[in-house]
Amino acid sequence: MTSYAEFHRRSLEDRDAFWAEQAQLVDWKTQATQICDYSKPPFVNWFVGGSTNLCHNAVDRHLKDRADQAALIFVSTETHQERVYSFRELHAEVQRMAAVLIELGVKKSDRVLIYMPMIAEAAFAMLACARMGAIHSVVFGGFASGSLASRIEDASPKVIISADAGSRGGKVVAYKPLLDEAIRLSSHKPDSVLLVDRGLATMNWVAGRDKLWEPLRQKHLDTVVPCEWLDASHPSYTLYTSGTTGKPKGVQRDTGGYAVALAASMKHIYCGNAGETYFATSDIGWVVGHSYIIYGPLIAGMATIMYEGLPIRPNGGIWWSLVEKYKVTVMFSAPTAIRVLKKQDPVLLKKYDLSSLRALFLAGEPLDQPTAQWISEGLGRPIVDNYWQTETGWPILAISKGVDDAPTKFGSPGKAVYGYDVKLIDENTGAELKGANQKGVVAIEGPLPPGCLQTVWGDNDRFVSTYWNTIPGRMIYSTFDWGIRDEDGYYFILGRTDDVINVAGHRLGTREIEESIAGHPNVAEVAVVGVADQLKGQVAMAFAVVKDTRLLTDEAAKLKLEGEIMKRVDGDLGALARPARVRFVTVLPKTRSGKCLRRAIQAVCEGRDPGDLTTMEDPAALQQIKDLVAG
Ligand code: ATP
Ligand code: MG
Repeated sequence: MTSYAEFHRRSLEDRDAFWAEQAQLVDWKTQATQICDYSKPPFVNWFVGGSTNLCHNAVDRHLKDRADQAALIFVSTETHQERVYSFRELHAEVQRMAAVLIELGVKKSDRVLIYMPMIAEAAFAMLACARMGAIHSVVFGGFASGSLASRIEDASPKVIISADAGSRGGKVVAYKPLLDEAIRLSSHKPDSVLLVDRGLATMNWVAGRDKLWEPLRQKHLDTVVPCEWLDASHPSYTLYTSGTTGKPKGVQRDTGGYAVALAASMKHIYCGNAGETYFATSDIGWVVGHSYIIYGPLIAGMATIMYEGLPIRPNGGIWWSLVEKYKVTVMFSAPTAIRVLKKQDPVLLKKYDLSSLRALFLAGEPLDQPTAQWISEGLGRPIVDNYWQTETGWPILAISKGVDDAPTKFGSPGKAVYGYDVKLIDENTGAELKGANQKGVVAIEGPLPPGCLQTVWGDNDRFVSTYWNTIPGRMIYSTFDWGIRDEDGYYFILGRTDDVINVAGHRLGTREIEESIAGHPNVAEVAVVGVADQLKGQVAMAFAVVKDTRLLTDEAAKLKLEGEIMKRVDGDLGALARPARVRFVTVLPKTRSGKCLRRAIQAVCEGRDPGDLTTMEDPAALQQIKDLVAG
């Protein structure tokens, strides 16, 4: 093994040769004539002249060696369905879906919006679009009419694919009325709405527009729809960011670069092999669902589990029972999900045979040490934090286990991933911070590697003005996260740039304060925000979810706990970081993807309008904070 440092160096200094090699991990109809065209920075075209197809790489090319092996494993603990599709069956279903879309008038480059629960048909729909070069735009099924309407407006889809209903915790959530309302709200109207009827809810039918999937599928049981060979830069999909910091951004991804980036990441980072099973617990509505439920594992020839249901129903062992049953080798989840499991009986972690599992990857938000330790001890497997964004589509920071035998460090998602020229930038001067242990904005010098966003859908100007800064002669992409790099090249994410607070001229990451508070045995979760203060500029304000909720009605106990927490922060970070107040709540306001909406909390604390809340999970959570602040 060449050293990882050498591997990473080569990916930047000998960029074209490096990516030309990685490109051999996927099938091409025609090979690229130019690996990287960066003549119009910050826009980049990867694999110019190459043509390929994501669906071909995810499905068709495996028919030769593994037609009868599992490809898609659909498990619903909501409707008690479980079905394994082989690559052969997946190939057939995807062609049926593609044939139906063609019948509905969908052509290459048309948009197809997918608003669906976690059912196999959603995977068929994504792959069918990729097959014919239609651009899919998956909208998380948990969103209601308002958020859906703005995405319909933006994507202007020819067809929308949906279902009668989803189900969550045993409760049916009818999708059709939400969709009808969203279409009413949007000025763009789709030609057709294709509906999967799961028999969960009755549907109000709009004649002429609405079409039922099953009868159309029956018409096309044997229709052959070949893969369309697409330019590497042909857009494969658009997808919105989570909206944690404001209005969501519509990320546009290419075809060839994405295929190569995912194939390479499956090899070098996740170390998944063909014939094995991958289990990502996310939802197809998020980037993890795109990259590591659907495309990544299938491109690697792995079976992938698509799970509809809660992690704690019928009980907190459900995921581990799937690991045992399907011999999952690689698993991917989010800290927020692990914190949910942490409240369950720890015995559930020991009940199943997890010997197939090699590692659990976590991403999406900071992995706090108590959570990491709990799950790592419980599973007896390496827990690998990795850091990335909807924009990048695959990890920016990780330990690339396939090429790096370096250990993981608690609290760090690891080192700069090959292909990424990661820098820390001084927020005030814009200069690069080259030394160890200096705090700065995590940034990437262009060109972004294959697989990252091409642009913001329909808005090149927004792409440039949102993300890019110029250091004389160089273009730098900002992640809007704040971090630090140690002497071994490991990064630590300190929070979002919005979340940096400035107390009497000292810059503190809210994450550091949260880490300290989360270490208290009675704290399940905590959010710290900076609040304007006349004297100090800003002060920290903490909102903690307590484990023992009896405390919430006991004023004396609350004061005592507040004192204990302040003392902890004094000891860990110094009195400067001590929150002005620690308030207690039962739940924190989060996005539907599980990210804490600190900017909304901060706005409420400062008496400002909390801004775009369309991606918020539970409005009652923010109300609790409003009440506390008002009281
Ligand atoms: P928006 O950009 O619309 O405000 P968002 O940034 O939450 O929403 P995502 O793309 O889903 O949208 O999330 C990416 C962000 O999640 C990162 O920029 C970072 O703040 C956070 N994140 C992801 N993985 C990690 C990780 N391993 N450690 C710390 N933070 C992480
Ligand atoms: Mg973001």
